[in-house]
Amino acid sequence: MTFVDRKKYIQEGDLVLVYVSRTLIKPVYVKSGEHFNTRFGSFPHDSMIGLEFGSQITTPKDRGFVYLLQPTPELWTMSLPHRTQIVYTPDSSYILQRLNVNVGSKVIEAGTGSGSFTHAFARSVNEEGKLYTFEFHETRYLKAKEEFTKHGLNNLIITHRDVCENGFEIDNIDLDADTVFLDLPAPWSAIPKLTNVISKNRTVGICCFSPCFEQVVKTVETLQDEGWLDIELTEVQGRLFESHKAMKREVDDAVKRLQFVKEKQREGLELIKAGKHPRKEAEKDYGFNPFGKGKRIIEGEDGYEWMNVSRLEHEVKTHTSYLLFAKKLPHHAIKVNNNSNNTSETI
Ligand code: SAM
Repeated sequence: MTFVDRKKYIQEGDLVLVYVSRTLIKPVYVKSGEHFNTRFGSFPHDSMIGLEFGSQITTPKDRGFVYLLQPTPELWTMSLPHRTQIVYTPDSSYILQRLNVNVGSKVIEAGTGSGSFTHAFARSVNEEGKLYTFEFHETRYLKAKEEFTKHGLNNLIITHRDVCENGFEIDNIDLDADTVFLDLPAPWSAIPKLTNVISKNRTVGICCFSPCFEQVVKTVETLQDEGWLDIELTEVQGRLFESHKAMKREVDDAVKRLQFVKEKQREGLELIKAGKHPRKEAEKDYGFNPFGKGKRIIEGEDGYEWMNVSRLEHEVKTHTSYLLFAKKLPHHAIKVNNNSNNTSETI
């Protein structure tokens, strides 16, 4: 599987993720005779064949360059054609580790959407595991199926199905899933349909991804009714904090600044009276930094007081959402509490 196994050289038919810039990565299926066109110029596919993944290529007139990257689920998430909202890497990596998805895991995913998370699941479960993914929108289902085949994701089965209506069972297959991921508008309708497809012998983890709190409330009620335990809510708010130093400013500095401005005004007026150009004269280095003007000071420079601060960047791709996690114990770990009519769980 291309997305799982590493490969050294690019061959005809390979998917290459062409890195044009930090915000532009384009999927290209290499075909002899074709060209990849960018605003920097045209790159013949023939110039890619035989190169190592990771190589840089330039346009014939050296006007621009791109990098030829090997596909990974993370890069695919950054470059895939969006057909729906997608799960981004900060969220999918957190969910994978929270659910302990591993080589050999058996995963149910609904809906497939644009297949962003599907690629990450497929790599994590590897060839020893299995992924069952469900999508009820026909065009999305067909497109995802075509992409998964092209990408060699042969450890998954995609099914065209409304899971809320018709559940998850697949003819002649014991899904025996140990992991469930629901990215659906109404996960509470799908949860009761999981009973026959999740493992009875292993602990099963579930994660429901919902943007609204009203959805969370309904899902929690259903998880409780269906015997899921350890229900936990995580709010995803990916943010990138950039740290830097800010100069400490005292009242004395503000007074000094006002005196400086006043002095400059006076000097300016005198220059005008003398028939000189005040702006040219102002280009002089005054040696004092009136908070930005005058002498240039480099962040952290000696001779000033600095404090460490952090600034919020808005670049992290994720969308604000709620993640509900819960688990179900294997049947042998559940015993009936004889003191009441209810079933209680003990480990
Ligand atoms: N996790 C996906 C990704 O990373 O690309 C995105 C999923 S998208 C937000 C939700 C998908 O669920 C849509 O494609 C929608 O058609 C599908 N869907 C909604 N309700 C469904 C249902 N009852 N059964 C199957 N698929 C459903």
